[in-house]
Formats: sequence, C-alpha cells, structure tokens
Amino acid sequence: MTIPQPRSTCIDLHCHSRASDGKLSPRDLVSRAHERGVTHLALTDHDTIAGLPEASAAAEQVGIELITGTELSCVWKSQTIHVVGLDFDVASPALQAALAEQFENRWRRARMIAERLSRLPVPDLLEQAQAQADGNVPGRPHFARVLVDAGVVKDMNMAFKRYLGAGKLGDVKAFWPELATVVGWIRDAGGVAVLAHPRKYKMTATRLRALVADFRRAGGRALEVSTSGQSSGDLGFLAELCRREAMLASQGSDFHFPGAPWCELGRIAALPDGLLPVWEHFHKPVTMAKGLSPERETADIDQSGSRG
Ligand code: MN
Ligand code: MN
Ligand code: MN
Repeated sequence: MTIPQPRSTCIDLHCHSRASDGKLSPRDLVSRAHERGVTHLALTDHDTIAGLPEASAAAEQVGIELITGTELSCVWKSQTIHVVGLDFDVASPALQAALAEQFENRWRRARMIAERLSRLPVPDLLEQAQAQADGNVPGRPHFARVLVDAGVVKDMNMAFKRYLGAGKLGDVKAFWPELATVVGWIRDAGGVAVLAHPRKYKMTATRLRALVADFRRAGGRALEVSTSGQSSGDLGFLAELCRREAMLASQGSDFHFPGAPWCELGRIAALPDGLLPVWEHFHKPVTMAKGLSPERETADIDQSGSRG
C-alpha cells in the first residue's frame, strides 16, 4: 500500500485514446496521465464519447479527476475547425444524437472514398481501411496505407500524390456541420465550448480574430491558449487574443501516442498571467493547489499571478 502524497494541480484538457485516433486504451491513457502527475484530465476523442466510461472507471481507481470531453469537427468559412467540448452531461439526448450524426458523416465520407477508388485492384478496400483504422472509421491515411500494402503504389507519398491528395479521385470533402451548430450542441448539453489549437489553422491574425469573434457569438467561451508544439510567441499571441476577446483560457496537450517528445500528457506551458482559466467555471470548479510534487518540467504552474 502506498501513502498518498499531496500533489500539485496539473490539468490536461485535451487528449485522445483508441476510441478515436490515439494509440492507448482509455485505461492506459489514464494511468499514463497519473504517472505524469496529471490530477485533472479530459479525454477528448474525435466526435465520440465512447472512451469515457472506461476512462472514468480508471480515473476513479487512481484518483484522477476526469472531466467529460470530446473534440468535434466542423467548418467555418470552408475551413475545418476543431472545437473541444468540456464538462457536459454525457446523458444529454441532444448530444448523443449529434455524435451519431458525426459518426454517420465520417462513414459517408469513407464509403465515398472507397467507391471512388473501387476500380483499383484492391479487394475489400473499405474493410481493409477500417482494419487499418483499428476498427474505427477510416480516413485518407488509412486508405493510403492499404494501397501501399496492396502494391498499388510504392509508398504513402505516392498514394496521396496519385489517389488521395488534393484534387485527386479519393479526395472527398468531409461532411462537417457549421461551427455554430457544434457550439450549440455542447452548450445544449451543459458544457463549455473551447476553440482547439487556434494556431494550427495557419490563419492570418485577422482571420483568426474573425473566427474567434464568430465562435464567441455562437456561444463559444474559451480558447485553448496552451497546447503542445507551440512557441512562446504563439502562447503570448493567444493569451493576448484571449484577453482582448474576453474569453476563458484552456490548456491541453493533444496527446495521441507515447514516444513523441514534443507531446506528452500534462506537459504544457502554464497559462500566462491575467487569464481566466476555464476550469474555474466547471460545474465543480477546480482550484489550483501547490503540493509536494515530483519534477514538473514545463508544466509548472505559477500561483503568484492575478487570475482576475
Ligand atoms: Mn487526432
Ligand atoms: Mn484537433
Ligand atoms: Mn485533438
């Protein structure tokens, strides 16, 4: 038996398990988070909450606080955008219906890709791609892998260049709903909508400001200010945007699999001072505690700053 030690608060509100495109089972993900010192975790699989029951049971065992989460795909001005939903009611019938719709949207696209590529000499293309996707709905990389394995092309690059890349036969547009629609789903389920990894969309500052303004008008409340693979410049820029647009701030690693040194559970830069953390607005607000903790690396959280 181990004696529990006081731990400092470590919050990670964005990661993936095998329920979507992550590599770990929800249970293994939660244990890894625990080992890395995470005290509050949201599992945010793409367009599904299927991993939450297993994650929740595992979290209870190790003593992690699990916050409900998902990452929803949508479109804004014909660009794909990701919205993280947090702290919602998993039993909400409206949300369940919405997730079923997202699931069908993914399958529609997968079936259409398989149909378009059906003249290639690959038997059971759709089934094989699904196996590549670990039983989940296959996307273009999974189809590409099947084409390579079947010897149709020599590598993944060629698969995209000939069949799946922009403008090619298998380049089927995703059927995602509008930004305002998915924000509405999250709000209707009692949750808070967070604009995921805003720097990943490679937008100009002007376009990103317009996105944030539309997101806020739709009922979006928070920006993911701190995530993996960002420069300190990105962090400062997003913090400023967050203050200026009066948004709450969130943080999450967007962890998918072990072994990537730039992306690890709980290992994200602390939010800059003067921001309003989204977790203080959860149904069960999280307050920061600084305890005796193992080395915290970059995730060290500064308690001295004003949080408004
Ligand atoms: Mn992903
Ligand atoms: Mn994303
Ligand atoms: Mn993600």
